Amino acid sequence: MAIIGAGVVGLGIGWRLSGRAVVDIFDRGAAGSGASYAAAGMLAACCEAEPGEETLVALGRESQARWPGFAEQLLRASGIDVELRREGTLVLALTADDQAEIGHRLEFQRRLDLPLEWLSAAATRAREPHLAGKIAGALFSPEDHQVDNRKLVQALRIAAETSGATIHEYRPVKEILVQGGRANGVMFDDGTMTPADIVVLAAGAWSRGIGGLPPDRRPPVRPVKGQMLALKMDSTAPLLQHALWAPGAYLVPRRDGRLLIGGTVEEKGFNATITAGGLLTLLEAAWRAVPAVEELPVDEIWVGHRPGSRDDAPILGRGPLEGLFYATGHHRNGILLAPVTADAMARLILDGVGDRIIRPFGLERFLPARAAE
Ligand SMILES: Cc1cc2nc3c(=O)[nH]c(=O)nc-3n(C[C@H](O)[C@H](O)[C@H](O)COP(=O)(O)OP(=O)(O)OC[C@H]3O[C@@H](n4cnc5c(N)ncnc54)[C@H](O)[C@@H]3O)c2cc1C
Repeated sequence: MAIIGAGVVGLGIGWRLSGRAVVDIFDRGAAGSGASYAAAGMLAACCEAEPGEETLVALGRESQARWPGFAEQLLRASGIDVELRREGTLVLALTADDQAEIGHRLEFQRRLDLPLEWLSAAATRAREPHLAGKIAGALFSPEDHQVDNRKLVQALRIAAETSGATIHEYRPVKEILVQGGRANGVMFDDGTMTPADIVVLAAGAWSRGIGGLPPDRRPPVRPVKGQMLALKMDSTAPLLQHALWAPGAYLVPRRDGRLLIGGTVEEKGFNATITAGGLLTLLEAAWRAVPAVEELPVDEIWVGHRPGSRDDAPILGRGPLEGLFYATGHHRNGILLAPVTADAMARLILDGVGDRIIRPFGLERFLPARAAE
């Protein structure tokens, strides 16, 4: 079995399949160096929920519920703690306008029974004393946690390899090989090939660029650029405890004292430039919410490319050929959705069982309706 892409999606599926199948995972670069490395690691199924995303929210909630067990199993399999932090998330309102906007979304979120609670300014400040002097309050999301996504890719890699998967780095796949109407291997950039009875396309934002299929059967995934930065806090006296969604930026405190600030959302293809404007927007938004960030040293700045599908939901299920499966398009939620993606795709590939929870996310939703026969 060949898996194209060693991000959280490809590694997670590979881990779940290895031991029951011979698994080879190919990456064009170092494993786990794509969006999975660039992410902020928030598991935000509730506070991000927007009208029209009901099925995606259900998938996110299911994955959220699986996260504690997934982290536990990964720790046992790899020895790496992915630092699942359970303080929850605050969505901060600085002004009455921000509060009104949050309140509007909250009506929809309450209809979905999401556990969210409005906190007064005083109650918000009691949780986070370093917030700006003037705030309107915050929405508290007690089940939207975070993990360290960089530790996650390390852990998944070790877990997959320990259970028998082989990871081939710097091995870019050029094409999916097709014979007799089914996928039967992959061809690399250097022209060499490897046969495979099953091919899983999990190449994140690059998934559409893999050849071998006509353009209208490739997954409709595009890169959505995100710039981020990390500041360095004193880890013994961090400025924040919760993941914080402020107007214009989110701030995510890590155990080691890093404070991640993200992320721009830009339609710029695979452009990887870090711009003054991008950093300015993020830093200004962070500073308005937590003024003391201005004293902190900058630790790192980076760019990643989210795999965005046409409806921003993942593409999970059978591909357009026998033997071909798609697991891509996770956009802003690939870390959140890692457990449910790995479990459900492994069940589909090995046991032929398409879990109800992933059924709405098939490629079919993007294909033109078949002409009446
Ligand atoms: C700035 C930013 C912030 C984010 N924050 C969050 C967050 O807080 N929470 C959350 O849940 N999600 C977040 N995301 C989204 C999340 O990172 C992605 O949805 C997730 O990482 C997608 O995983 P993946 O394995 O599909 O893609 P990737 O991690 O990009 O992996 C795809 C892999 O495929 C490889 N590849 C590409 N082309 C080829 C080829 N031809 N042959 C072989 N291999 C190939 C790449 O090298 C790469 O390693 C964020 C993303 C970004 C960019």
